Order: sequence, then structure tokens, then C-alpha cells
Amino acid sequence: MKSATKYIHAGAHPDPSTGAIMTPVYQTSTYVQEAPGVNKGYEYARSQNPTRTALEEALAVIENGKYGLAFSSGVAATDAVIKLLSPGDEVICANDMYGGTYRLFTKVFERFGIVFRYVDTTNAANVQAAVTARTKLVWLETPTNPLMNITDIAAVAAVTKTKKILLVVDNTFASPALQNPLDLGADIVMHSVTKYLGGHSDVIQGALVMNDPELREKLYFIQKSCGAVPGPMDCFLVLRGIKTLGVRMKAHCENGKIIANWLRKHPKVARVYWPGFEDHPGYAVAKKQMKDFGGMISFELKNDSVEEAKRVLSSTHLFSLAESLGGVESLINHPASMTHASIPREERIKNGLSDSLIRLSVGIEDPDDLVEDLAKAIG
Ligand SMILES: *Cc1c(COP(=O)(O)O)cnc(C)c1O
Repeated sequence: MKSATKYIHAGAHPDPSTGAIMTPVYQTSTYVQEAPGVNKGYEYARSQNPTRTALEEALAVIENGKYGLAFSSGVAATDAVIKLLSPGDEVICANDMYGGTYRLFTKVFERFGIVFRYVDTTNAANVQAAVTARTKLVWLETPTNPLMNITDIAAVAAVTKTKKILLVVDNTFASPALQNPLDLGADIVMHSVTKYLGGHSDVIQGALVMNDPELREKLYFIQKSCGAVPGPMDCFLVLRGIKTLGVRMKAHCENGKIIANWLRKHPKVARVYWPGFEDHPGYAVAKKQMKDFGGMISFELKNDSVEEAKRVLSSTHLFSLAESLGGVESLINHPASMTHASIPREERIKNGLSDSLIRLSVGIEDPDDLVEDLAKAIG
């Protein structure tokens, strides 16, 4: 089935009791049993909920996976993955990744004895070099947030496969419409559903998708035992969001391309980070593993002062100053003080994230209006 059709029909079955075409919001905590232990597959809503079941099926279908699991947030999904590990186990991860993932790894899981090694994953040889006998998992993000670095998923999978190391890819920035890591050799795909999958800035949710039934059982056990499950209304909203993923991503990519090229020609802009530029170091890999380049763009001004960046950040009208991304409306963000403030400054600078970097989540408004808004703000 082609993806445009998948987005509409994934997880959709008419409701068995009424024929409702949309899976209802099963707002219930428990299910009445016919006799002790005799039930319809639903016992208690932390373990199972029909609205969540429909969504989890949809998540699997759109990521070309067998099993989906939904969580109460993206970081809850990440948390569940790391709970597969034991003290002493090692994780290799990107040195440029979402600030909340870095915070969870360094501030929570390091205390439990999990060891994290941060490397530049854009070169798979660096991953290979960091592998030890205790390496159990490699955590990738591509494109990265906010520097748009690209890692070759298949090249890293070639390293992990021979050593039985789990490969996890945070696919939030690309969305399943642009990149499907399981097809490239990943074992688990993680999403902050909050972003492109929800798509309307109205829900916090996370997801994991995988193919291996044993891995699914382990992660389902963690999901129900630790309890970070999404409510049925949130699952309903995401089922709705997924239906327009294809058309939304097409519009995000078209607008992203227009804005990236416009910014690049602007006399006051020093540098634009967007993987669709032919001279972007990850262009060839992005072209190979992604269907398009997305609507996330970061840039630096020639006037490299934090004050000037803050002036621009406060001067847009259509681009709202806010954390998050992937919604239909355009957002502007200052990673150093907002999304990535949880990463120590020296770490940020070392990895190329300057104090004056501005990040855009390009929405699906008319691109002429978006360009005009940025033009006025940059001046
Ligand atoms: C937002 C985000 C997360 C965390 O997801 P939440 O839904 O906010 O918990 C993880 N990774 C990336 C790339 C993100 O952008």
C-alpha cells in the first residue's frame, strides 16, 4: 500500500459495537468481566485501551514496523527503552541531540549506573571505535536537533548488527513520511509524537515501533509496569493527526525549501543549517535515506550577538516564539536558552551550538507570508 493511503487507513476499523468509522475515545479506566478472568482482551486501561490499540497499530503501519507502543510523552518512550538495560551497560549516543534526551541520560540514568558515551555519529567509524564488550545500545537522532547533522543509519546498523547491539533511532525530526529507520536496519524507532505525528500542537505523546516480538514483549512489560501511558483522548487526536501526515509533510518540506534558500541569500544571515543544501556535509546521506528534507531550519546572523538574536526572536509575528516543533503553525526558538538550556554551555559550544543560533519550525502557512514575517524581523 502506498503511504498516502496508509496514513488514512492505518489502524482504522469500524467500531465493532456501532460501526462508527472513527475509533471512539474509550474514556474508561476498567472493563467489566463476564466471570473472574473472562474478558474481551481488556482488563485495566493502564495495560490496554481500544483507542490506544488503534493508534499503536497505526504507528506500526506508518513506520513499516510490526508493533507500535504509545507513551505519555517522547521522553517517556526514551525512558522505556533505557529501562531495557542494567547497571554497567553502555550506550553510544550522538553528541548533538535533543536536550531532554541528554538530560534524561546524564541526570537520571547515569545515577543508575548506565554509561553513556557521546560521539560524533555522522561518521559511523566513530561509533565502531566506541564499542566495548559492554555496549548494549546505540541511540541515534537524524537529522539532529538543532544543528541538522545527518547520520547514515544503514552504516551504523552495519556496526550494531554484527555485535548484537540494539540500534534505536529518534525519528522525530524526519517523521515516518520522510524516513523509515526500521527499513534501514534500526531495531527500534522512537518518536516524540508531540511533533509531526500529532501535528497540531495540542498533545504530548511518545511512541516506539519495532519488528521483533520479543523486544515488543519487553517494552510492553515496561510500558504497563512503569505506567507512562497516554490517555484515550490524546490517542484519538493523534489518530486524527496521522491522517494528514502526508499532505502536511509535503507542505512543510515545500515551505522549508523556500525559506532555507531565502535565508541563505539574505545579506544579514551568516549560515543556514538545512540538509537540503547540496553543500551540506550530510546531503548525500540525507538524499539516500530521506524522501525529502523537512521543515526544520537553523541559522546564525552575521551580527553574532545574543542581543541581536533575541531581537529577531522577539520581532516575528507569524513565527511564534515557543519550544516544540512540527505543528501546522510556524515557530521560532532560541535553543541556547530554551530547548537546549539543559545542556551545559561548554558542551553546547563544543558541539557547534552557538548562543546566537535561531531555530525555525516552518509551518504550512503561505510561504510568502512567512518570508515577509522573517524579512521584517531580520530587517
Ligand atoms: C520533543 C522531542 C523529544 C521529546 O519528546 P516529548 O514529547 O517532548 O517528551 C525527543 N526527541 C526530539 C528530537 C524532540 O524534538
